Amino acid sequence: MSGASVKVAVRVRPFNSRETSKESKCIIQMQGNSTSIINPKNPKEAPKSFSFDYSYWSHTSPEDPCFASQNRVYNDIGKEMLLHAFEGYNVCIFAYGQTGAGKSYTMMGKQEESQAGIIPQLCEELFEKINDNCNEEMSYSVEVSTAVRVRDLLNPKNKGNLRSSKIGSYFPYPQTLLDLMDAGKQKAMVWTVAATNMNETSSRSHAVFTIVFTQKKHDNETNLSTEKVSKISLVDLAGSERADSTGAKGTRLKEGANINKSLTTLGKVISALAEVVIKRRKTDFIPTGDSVLTWLLRENLGCGNSRTAMVAALSPADINYDETLSTLRYADRAK
Ligand code: ADP
Repeated sequence: MSGASVKVAVRVRPFNSRETSKESKCIIQMQGNSTSIINPKNPKEAPKSFSFDYSYWSHTSPEDPCFASQNRVYNDIGKEMLLHAFEGYNVCIFAYGQTGAGKSYTMMGKQEESQAGIIPQLCEELFEKINDNCNEEMSYSVEVSTAVRVRDLLNPKNKGNLRSSKIGSYFPYPQTLLDLMDAGKQKAMVWTVAATNMNETSSRSHAVFTIVFTQKKHDNETNLSTEKVSKISLVDLAGSERADSTGAKGTRLKEGANINKSLTTLGKVISALAEVVIKRRKTDFIPTGDSVLTWLLRENLGCGNSRTAMVAALSPADINYDETLSTLRYADRAK
């Protein structure tokens, strides 16, 4: 799918203690890019199979060749998206799945070096690349912000509760670069800021981490400058579980229903986008105005100048069959 604008990966996390204590069985199988799921309620039923750009398996040992480390996930997905950002595309990487399936682990990870997720690894490489490419002709600016949306997801006019905070801007020029670009320090800083903001959000809201990245080229002969601006959106979506399985009532139930609608809208946008790219109907209407989430990602979801990657996070356990199947179907529609 290298030419298409949506890349889809699925990632199975290890069993958690609840699943282990219930002696849950593993219902996911992966082979190459094919992922299948067995229905534990009817084991005689043929497994349902899906195929994605990447299938990541993690509940084996790190020595297993199929084991997907944080580094491998970043190398496959984050690196490519960062390259697209340098080419001038708006890029978006988002994690989808039920609460506890591994979305935050994939996007943020943990603070230990080997467990850093896509966001800190991408920031580190971004600063390294700037460091390598910055010279008298090329200068860069990076602006990082988070926006966390809480509720009232479907009203595109209601952006009042969209909390957005600018974390900081960096304008690295050659003379100050060495002071600014200690990649290790940058990574720790970005991790701390992003982790704080992500932790503030409950699993019932989406967390969007945005980097606006400007590349400025100055031609000394003509004294003219050109600018390329790319927006990198890194999104940890709200848990996709259906309201009935979470036992939610009242406001939370409504909130859950709204989140599901906004995730459905996002899914529709992404499917429309994939279809437009495949059929090359560049003028097709992409319905991004339907929810605040898609409004927020409007520059990333427009066709042509954008590249999107999705990681669908999965539990391996039989007790989560319904949610896992619905996540696989969502991911399948996004292809
Ligand atoms: P979510 O963000 O989808 O609610 P989390 O990312 O918080 O889920 O994951 C739940 C737990 O599982 C966390 O303790 C996390 O560290 C662990 N986990 C998730 N994915 C993996 C993985 N691929 N490898 C190891 N641990 C994981």
